[in-house]
Amino acid sequence: MESAHELISDLEKLSGPQLQHFVIELSDKARAEAQQSYSNEQQDQFLQKWYGREPGLAWIVFDKTYAKDRSAAAWARYGLQNLFKAPADLYINYGILAEDPEEAFDHLRYFLKTLIARANHPERFAAVRSLWESRNQGIKTAIREHLLKNAKPDIKPRVGQYFNQLSSLVEELFAQKQLITETDGVEEAALARERVDLSLPGVIRPVGSHHLIRQVFQEIEDIFVSIGFSVVEGPEIETPYYNFEALNIPEFHPVRDDMDTFYLELPPSSDKKAAPTPLLLRTHTSPMQIRTMEKQKPPVRVIVPGKVYRRDNPDATHSFAFHQIEGLAVDTDITFCDFTGTIEYFVKQFFGPSVKTRFRPSYFPFTEPSVEFDVSCPFCGGTGTAAAGGTCTKCKGAAWIELFGAGMVDPAVYGFVNYDAKKVSGFAFGIGIDRLAMLKYGIDDIQVFFQNDVRFLRQFP
Ligand SMILES: [Zn+2]
Repeated sequence: MESAHELISDLEKLSGPQLQHFVIELSDKARAEAQQSYSNEQQDQFLQKWYGREPGLAWIVFDKTYAKDRSAAAWARYGLQNLFKAPADLYINYGILAEDPEEAFDHLRYFLKTLIARANHPERFAAVRSLWESRNQGIKTAIREHLLKNAKPDIKPRVGQYFNQLSSLVEELFAQKQLITETDGVEEAALARERVDLSLPGVIRPVGSHHLIRQVFQEIEDIFVSIGFSVVEGPEIETPYYNFEALNIPEFHPVRDDMDTFYLELPPSSDKKAAPTPLLLRTHTSPMQIRTMEKQKPPVRVIVPGKVYRRDNPDATHSFAFHQIEGLAVDTDITFCDFTGTIEYFVKQFFGPSVKTRFRPSYFPFTEPSVEFDVSCPFCGGTGTAAAGGTCTKCKGAAWIELFGAGMVDPAVYGFVNYDAKKVSGFAFGIGIDRLAMLKYGIDDIQVFFQNDVRFLRQFP
């Protein structure tokens, strides 16, 4: 951004919303720089860099945008307006805060002089002119409405005088400049048609962002990738074999009751190679443990992000679709210590270094031993008492929050994928993304993730 050449080449690649975004960002930069220029000398350097001769970044953007086409100019209009008004807004604010706004008027005069000096072709001239005198958004109106009307009665006459002096000086500068830039009538008329009023508000297209669930996926993927895991994805439509049997959950196993799901009814196929029916929507990301181990010999270190389904009725913590990340590590030398160390590393990266962790024995058909993994409540610092007194509502006073289930891979599972259970060992875990996102960001209803209400989504840009 510092170099004018970079700026030009960036601009040329952009159009439409990208161009708009770029110019708005640029105007924010100019505003920030104006605010950080404290001394008169710094202000001078700032004005020259953006609006003067060295190199006049705002002018470069203006010319490049207008050289492209009308649509580019329309897209960039809002950003350009901000860019060119930035110093004036700042000086007017100074003036409001000052006992006597004389210095603010000095700054305004110097800024307008700099601008008009560079308005040396008709498009620039017209733009500066409307920036000054546009009735709604112009600088002149802003001075009258904010500096003059709000001035204390004892200095009001003086402020009026500053204002009149500035106005007549600006008019004079415009008149001089017009003599120089006046061209023949045909061209003038053509330009008048093309003229874009810089002071009009432009078309503001909202810029989107990632859904909170996607952001949490990304955050977790980054943590695990940084310690050597790779990311794989799998099908959401599964066979009962991968979803249940190969994970050591035979038919009529009671666990299947908790994982009731949606079965797909497909028309009978004449193709003998077609997938066997029935098919179901996977209830967890664990089938990818099997699919990965079938394809790959140890060592295996993968995480599997994705959507999963269960036949749950919607309420504040249940939904028929939700999100998981499965993790699996299998090698010849993986111990329970590797397992706890990895999980603890992840939790501290995600919730911060001050949380404590603990395991409780649990049961899953495909891990042995199995654990439930708890974290000390990050909201009350693991005390069970809210900062304002009373019971912490997040952990309900328990000081611990249940996070997810995990365990060492049950040797029976290796039998399904032709791994030698005597030689390899490993661990697996299944993290509920929705639950983690709700905990971390203090959200109390899982349904908001699926309602696509922008008032909610906008809070997590
Ligand atoms: Zn708590």
